[in-house]
Amino acid sequence: MSGAPLLQVKNLVKRFPIRGGVLQRVVDQVHAVDGVSFDLAAGETLGVVGESGCGKSTTGRCVLRLIEPTSGEVWFKGQNITTLGKEPLRALARDMQIIFQDPYASLNPRMTVGAIVGEGLVIHKLASGAADIEQRVAELLRTVGLSPDQMKRYPHEFSGGQRQRIGIARALAVQPKMIVCDEAVSALDVSIQAQVINLLEDLQAQFGLTYIFIAHDLSVVEHISDRVAVMYLGRIVEIASAHDLYTNPLHPYTEALLSAVPIPDPRVKRKRIMLQGDVPSPIRPPPGCHFHTRCPIAQKGLCDVKRPEAKTTGDGHTVACHLRG
Ligand code: SF4
Repeated sequence: MSGAPLLQVKNLVKRFPIRGGVLQRVVDQVHAVDGVSFDLAAGETLGVVGESGCGKSTTGRCVLRLIEPTSGEVWFKGQNITTLGKEPLRALARDMQIIFQDPYASLNPRMTVGAIVGEGLVIHKLASGAADIEQRVAELLRTVGLSPDQMKRYPHEFSGGQRQRIGIARALAVQPKMIVCDEAVSALDVSIQAQVINLLEDLQAQFGLTYIFIAHDLSVVEHISDRVAVMYLGRIVEIASAHDLYTNPLHPYTEALLSAVPIPDPRVKRKRIMLQGDVPSPIRPPPGCHFHTRCPIAQKGLCDVKRPEAKTTGDGHTVACHLRG
């Protein structure tokens, strides 16, 4: 990375209260994000992976302040946006967009594609008059590989992949600097996934976009990511360049995830590491290292007691494990 990062996330924490009883008092908390920190350079793609419930989507939404963090800071373009009021935050929303997992649910079925894609242009006053908006929407549809003739149609008339292209056009309309792709290809068939990932890469080259690319599968993020962060129960356990992470994983959890990724070359055999047990509940995560209940090399008296600090090697490979790094 060169220069100041576009985004800095510092010790981000998000807890969701659980209410119960007649008075709906807070009886417990879900520890969704538990001290997450990372930097992101302009033009970079950070893949964020982990099993469902690991806090990756909540992290993405807290970064955009679609969800308010419990504590921690998010700095964007050198400004602490965690404390921004409504109006400055609305202006900032132009720079930070999101593409959702479910293109079926995230597009208003009663709006035409033209209205969906053009909405941001109207809200942020980026076009003047109906003809200008129509021209910009036509350009945006072409940019994402759709035909401008399709702007009068409704979302249900499109396939899953096409709908995700509409979601991308909607995000692009306001000329953002950064896009959080929240499981953006997870609901699509593998061949369509590849097309959408290729489109996102082309758009990044064309517009200098920065991505946080969230997925539950390491094989999905490998191609698009410059760096990859692996999350487990609300914490980043390892973060490294994509090449380093895939060729030299340090954390036992990353090793287990990688062992499940198919290798295209049938001559190369990789031993599958089967983790014992389920992911513990984020309501009462295990003490010490959250992973100790499933870790094949956990040390009693250490891993179950003390939280491992993140250690970084010279090449920016960071791991949070007492025994590795
Ligand atoms: Fe395993 Fe201990 Fe490392 Fe956690 S700190 S990953 S339990 S060895």
